[in-house]
Amino acid sequence: MRKAVIRPENCKACGVCMANCAKSAISMTDEINIRGYKHITVDKDKCIGCGICYIVCPDAVFTIVEE
Ligand code: SF4
Ligand code: SF4
Repeated sequence: MRKAVIRPENCKACGVCMANCAKSAISMTDEINIRGYKHITVDKDKCIGCGICYIVCPDAVFTIVEE
């Protein structure tokens, strides 16, 4: 089964991925990453590994992996 995994240190909290995930699997945390931005997290129970987040994120946060 495919799932999205993230590099939270790359996130700039723009929200584009959240707006495009059809499964509402992505949410913003209150944690601040090394670049000074909040970052997202992925609910693996909701994620279907469709890859849309990988396509739309401008900062290479997502990778789709086989688990
Ligand atoms: S792979 Fe698809 S379902 Fe999973 S977080 Fe990304 S957009 Fe959402
Ligand atoms: S699109 Fe990328 S940079 Fe923007 S909030 Fe989502 S993961 Fe972060």
